[in-house]
Amino acid sequence: MNIRELIHRVRNRLKPHEELSNEAVLGFLRVLEDVRADELSCDEIYLKLDEYVECEMDCKDAAHVMPLIREHLDICHECCEEYEALLDVVEKAEKDLKK
Ligand SMILES: [Zn+2]
Repeated sequence: MNIRELIHRVRNRLKPHEELSNEAVLGFLRVLEDVRADELSCDEIYLKLDEYVECEMDCKDAAHVMPLIREHLDICHECCEEYEALLDVVEKAEKDLKK
């Protein structure tokens, strides 16, 4: 796990700010279609965490769009901390962009 790399990745995506397309969300859901939450590894969560945070920022309903990620965050303290740290950074970055 490398929170700095994640933050860097999300910051790059935010400049210029682009809405997460429906196509991107659907593509992501297709990948997770057959996977159960308890089969997701922390590494897989880590790879998708920036998308989850972006979704949360865009629609405020990431838990509904990506329930498997939410489930993992509920049961995994380590990933949940990464998520909250990342969300905090993204929220601040969004505020800066809106200035
Ligand atoms: Zn985890």
